[in-house]
Amino acid sequence: MARPFDICIRGGGITGRTLALLLARERLRVGFVAQDGGKAADAKTNTTEDVKPDIRAFALNLKSKELLESIRCWPNDDDATPVLKMQVHGDDGGEVVFDAADCGAPALAWIVDVPVLEAQLAQAMQFQPQIELLDAPGPATLTVVCEGKTSRSRAEFGVDFEVNPYAQRAIAARLNCDTPHGHTARQWFSHEGILGVLPMGGATLATQGNSVAIVWSIDEARAQALLHMSPDDFCRALQVATHECFGALTLTSERTVWPLQLARTDRWAGSTGGASWALAGDAAHTVHPLSGQGLNLGLADVAELASLIAGRDYWRSVADEKLLRRYERSRKAAAAALGSVTDGLQRLFAQNGSSWQALRNAGMSGFERFGPLKKWVARQAMGA
Ligand SMILES: Cc1cc2nc3c(=O)[nH]c(=O)nc-3n(C[C@H](O)[C@H](O)[C@H](O)COP(=O)(O)OP(=O)(O)OC[C@H]3O[C@@H](n4cnc5c(N)ncnc54)[C@H](O)[C@@H]3O)c2cc1C
Repeated sequence: MARPFDICIRGGGITGRTLALLLARERLRVGFVAQDGGKAADAKTNTTEDVKPDIRAFALNLKSKELLESIRCWPNDDDATPVLKMQVHGDDGGEVVFDAADCGAPALAWIVDVPVLEAQLAQAMQFQPQIELLDAPGPATLTVVCEGKTSRSRAEFGVDFEVNPYAQRAIAARLNCDTPHGHTARQWFSHEGILGVLPMGGATLATQGNSVAIVWSIDEARAQALLHMSPDDFCRALQVATHECFGALTLTSERTVWPLQLARTDRWAGSTGGASWALAGDAAHTVHPLSGQGLNLGLADVAELASLIAGRDYWRSVADEKLLRRYERSRKAAAAALGSVTDGLQRLFAQNGSSWQALRNAGMSGFERFGPLKKWVARQAMGA
């Protein structure tokens, strides 16, 4: 009979692949099951509902960058665009501006092309003899579930997942803009939705940065209308929503749509029927994308798990109960805190009515004036 793996990872997303590479570095035997049978060809497919190319671009923080660099998977300068400034606009004059220079950081975040990062991770795994690609889960001392929000294994292990769907969908798309973005990310909050415009084009911009990625979280009916209007009408709607600050906009990708939810598990690790397991990434938590933190959270999960496993006493197993409890304690608190903050912001801006509008915009202005708190929040988001 084949020797069991030290760890079997289920889930071929960015979280699962990063964990596989971190554990292989520790000379552990890793079995890896991606949904498509463990082959690397999933790098260009949407990781959730459909199989369209994933045209999203993720804001990754400094901690995620350092983690991906440590496994030599950080994209090159063309595919990771530093965000030097972030402007957040309310719907009645409220504004908050974050500046990397004020925080003494090289950037507030980097906007990374998702298919490029996925391909880079898939390629790195091919050169790792410690990782065996499997068509189905194999016996292992510890199974780590990284299957995303609709995880089947999570249910198999009998773990509850509390899901609160948002009455919003996110539209993602890429565009060219006439007015250069100047490495500034912009976000507009209103009761109608939350629009984020992220700078793309790489670190060195010969053209001053004329490409952007958007995430527009908006109610279902409006999302359907925006998806089905002509590209020209969509761009015009976007110009209005961005207060014309990018000049003329032109779609350079199709529009894709994503359901949104706040969800969390109460149990991050355990043993079911004699099998030890742990959850990581969206399989353990999902948050609204308004903060651009979901994957940062998942990468912090796998960094913590890999570090606890690497630093364990030599006589402890990789499924040691104490180790898994420590993992649960440290990650549960971080995920719950971020989930509550993003949910609170989403709810605050979903309220219609002038008193809510006045309250939230006054809050933004107060926050903008309170330098120490603003710096602290920026550093938390940066993972610094
Ligand atoms: C519109 C939008 C914008 C976002 N922007 C940002 C951002 O800017 N920054 C950020 O940090 N986060 C962002 N996020 C969040 C981010 O997308 C997720 O947190 C991240 O993709 C989760 O990665 P994951 O690997 O945990 O799960 P997933 O990406 O869902 O990957 C799970 C993988 O497991 C596979 N799988 C499923 N079931 C099985 C099975 N039974 N066996 C084996 N494999 C299986 C799936 O096919 C998939 O490949 C955004 C999300 C949305 C919706």
